Amino acid sequence: MTGRRSVSIMGSTGSIGCSALDVIRQANKDDDNGFDVVALTAGSSAEKLAAQALEFRPQVAVIADERQLPDLRARLEGSGIEAAGGPKAVVEAATRPAGRVLAAIVGAAGLESTLAAVQAGNDVAIANKESVVCGGRLILEEAKKAGVRVLPVDSEHSAIHQCLGDGRQLERLTITASGGPFRTATLEEMRRATPAEAAAHPNWSMGIKNSIDSATLMNKALEFIEAAYLFDVPASVIDVIIHKQSIIHGMAHFTDGSVIAQLGAPDMRTPIAYALGWPDRVPTLVERLDLVRLGQLDFEAIDVEKFPAIQLAREAIAGGPAATTVLNCANESAVSAFIAGHCGFLDISLVVKEVLSRFLSGNMSGMACNSLEEIGFLDRYARNAAEDVLKRVPGGGVEDRTLG
Ligand code: NAD
Ligand code: MG
Repeated sequence: MTGRRSVSIMGSTGSIGCSALDVIRQANKDDDNGFDVVALTAGSSAEKLAAQALEFRPQVAVIADERQLPDLRARLEGSGIEAAGGPKAVVEAATRPAGRVLAAIVGAAGLESTLAAVQAGNDVAIANKESVVCGGRLILEEAKKAGVRVLPVDSEHSAIHQCLGDGRQLERLTITASGGPFRTATLEEMRRATPAEAAAHPNWSMGIKNSIDSATLMNKALEFIEAAYLFDVPASVIDVIIHKQSIIHGMAHFTDGSVIAQLGAPDMRTPIAYALGWPDRVPTLVERLDLVRLGQLDFEAIDVEKFPAIQLAREAIAGGPAATTVLNCANESAVSAFIAGHCGFLDISLVVKEVLSRFLSGNMSGMACNSLEEIGFLDRYARNAAEDVLKRVPGGGVEDRTLG
């Protein structure tokens, strides 16, 4: 152990943010090796953020929804903790010097603060996969310029980071997928699925957006793209397989036939601790694996008819960084529409497919995607296109229909 460290958490009130604070709470039982919290930021829950701030004593607590700032201020009055509000204040918090900034905002909304953290010279522990899918190249180029590290938090990428060693003589990478709640469902059952059914993940407890993405396997598609960016490998060497127990998270295959896998209970506190502590290990209370009790580990191929997402990710990667941004933002739009009851479950992939294919056949697909402005433009393009496609979807999402 290397003594005390400092950390900021962007998106502290979410599923990853709360798990990270749990890791820190445990680590702080050892005064000499704990974490000082620099900044905590949240979207809109002043009550939850204030409670976290009073427990972890950051320099600053920031609420993105400025309307909640008076409430946050009142709750923190007399505590000596600075309160701030609005998206600019979130970005500013990410630039405060910290040993590590945990990027745990959901969606492309997290990109600006991730980039700001990197540009300010902070190492980033990145959970926010959408920001990598939209701005992976930009984040990594800026990280190189600033001489900082981008450490993966997603369990599959954490696994690969742990398996790679020096990365020489690497042949392939495998990431695993649980298969989500509809692994054994029929297409008809999936067509009728409600947001509550889609969000009921068998192994992982996550925020709503990530849970829906896990049910369409779009989560795995985003992770596939994330892996290509983070490990700088061609998509053709990345495999995705179904492993329903979620015990093996990722594997690296080497040219001599060796395969190194990382195993662990499906609990995000392990990869969060890894990214916050690297190169040291931070002790956690995560359940220890009992392989004899588990008995067996199963693997199967993805049913591409039920789950077209990985194929869409392959097409997007082949189309270049602008196309991965469009895929991500079309998906964010479609997931929001599904949660709001404006389309059916299977429509999510249909919308993404339609928006992506329109984009790839248009004249913008060569865009370099190397500035926040360009990514913002593509984000708006994809959301508008998704809304346009969604207009043709009758509400409720139970009818059989073909878009296009
Ligand atoms: P969540 O919805 O539970 O939490 C999101 C956090 O971001 C909350 O604190 C919320 O207040 C904040 N937020 C939302 N919109 C914001 C905005 N516009 N500006 C500022 N803050 C905003 O999500 P989560 O499940 O914790 O996931 C966070 C990220 O981590 C996602 O990108 C997800 O894909 C990734 N991830 C999650 C898991 C998991 O197990 N939950 C695993 C791997 C990766
Ligand atoms: Mg993951």
